Amino acid sequence: MALKVIIASPEALPFAKTGGLADVTGALPLALKKLGCSVTLFMPLYREVQQKGFSGIEKTGVSVTVPVGGRNVAAEVFKGETEGIPVYFLKRDEYFDRTYLYTTPDGDYFDNLERFTFFSRAALEAISALNLKPDIIHCNDWQTGLIPAYIKSIYSQPLCGAATVFTIHNIAYQGLFPSMFFDATGLPRSLFNQEGIEYWGSINLLKAGIVFSDIVTTVSETYSREIQTPEYGYGLEGVLKKKSDSVFGVLNGVDYSEWDPETDEFIAKNYSGNNLKGKSLCKKDLLKEYSLKLKPDAPVIGVISRLAAQKGFDILSEAMDSLMDSGLGMVVLGTGERKYQGLFEELSKKYPGRLGVKIMFDNAIAHKIEAGCDMFLMPSRYEPCGLNQMYSLRYGAIPVVRATGGLDDTIKDYKDGGNGFKFTEYSAKALVEKVKEALDVYRDKKAWELLQKKAMREDFSWEMSAKRYMELYNLALKKK
Ligand code: ADP
Repeated sequence: MALKVIIASPEALPFAKTGGLADVTGALPLALKKLGCSVTLFMPLYREVQQKGFSGIEKTGVSVTVPVGGRNVAAEVFKGETEGIPVYFLKRDEYFDRTYLYTTPDGDYFDNLERFTFFSRAALEAISALNLKPDIIHCNDWQTGLIPAYIKSIYSQPLCGAATVFTIHNIAYQGLFPSMFFDATGLPRSLFNQEGIEYWGSINLLKAGIVFSDIVTTVSETYSREIQTPEYGYGLEGVLKKKSDSVFGVLNGVDYSEWDPETDEFIAKNYSGNNLKGKSLCKKDLLKEYSLKLKPDAPVIGVISRLAAQKGFDILSEAMDSLMDSGLGMVVLGTGERKYQGLFEELSKKYPGRLGVKIMFDNAIAHKIEAGCDMFLMPSRYEPCGLNQMYSLRYGAIPVVRATGGLDDTIKDYKDGGNGFKFTEYSAKALVEKVKEALDVYRDKKAWELLQKKAMREDFSWEMSAKRYMELYNLALKKK
């Protein structure tokens, strides 16, 4: 019998995306299906999904009602599909017909607890109403953290066969809310304590997911160890340590049907490791896109990122003058916190024609950057997995990264015979030194091309990771 897996996620490609989570929940179902699992996805029906006009998203005729914060709130269940994977959408416009998914440039939506309590509980109601009988419910991030708690309490009966796996994509985002709203969850008060959902007097939805799930995973081996330490655990290191025999790291894979310069439809010219000629056309195209005017041989380094402190922008801004003095060009694509938007806009005025900045979310430009850049920079303070360094490898845009989380697991330093450049100390000085090392190799055209070819041969496809998830699903069933 095929293992029946439901993946509950607040975002998934191709429907709605704010970051790497959507890449994962977009690609993992397909990889699991190839291994023989039966996979179904659950997510909210956001404005973005309604506006993009996906064909085939239709009413199922099922609607579910859940009590949230003293009201009975109904959701209509819609069904669509992506590449043969059934996707159920919960529609409640009051919560999901909004400009952003969770956070505006000025902060989080005030009613996120209500929105995602609703999503989590309505998903369970819908799973019962549709009689889906999953073996596994695979939950992702704080928005779905209540699902394991419901299954271990008020939903144990209707879903008694299901084990839960909870994946932490980023432990810094925990879904913290004042305790006075606890009753909105409908959970017994007895779960609001240190052993349960309480975190220093507040509700912590990520903690709920960690404590009540059968297996906890995170998105790289190194990050699974890091989050059990005070430096990276954001206060949850103790909770994780206590459960450490159920905590595993599974590296995210790359969807090479989306991210491969041989077939990429967004780039000026396709190319491969055997024939890199097209890459120089892609570079020209990128420089035009960003109106950059560089010396013919100047290397271009790219940044595609959420604009958040995690991504290392404090050391990058401190390093900027030295980087620019070394003669490189830089392109930045990102959205997020206003302070970093302002920072990059200022810097682009300081270095016209050499630093290009686009404050927007644009998948096509993200592809053009991978194809057109010589190097790709990720100076993260922490990085659970990181996808762009793996995309960059395939595009021959050599990653320069800080050794943390998934960056540490996927990039090996050139000096050690590796596929990129990696620095350890979180400082502007270490960043600049590493970029200079990369520039030295770049000037040696032969060595650089060899490095590019090596990088492009790396393979981080989903198959391996999906196999690991299947093992962990089976372990979750045993542990439940
Ligand atoms: P995180 O999930 O922390 O944002 P990841 O590296 O895991 O970081 O994933 C980020 C994903 O989002 C990548 O696919 C990246 O290309 C994409 N991305 C981030 N910012 C943008 C943007 N402004 N425009 C297009 N894609 C973006």
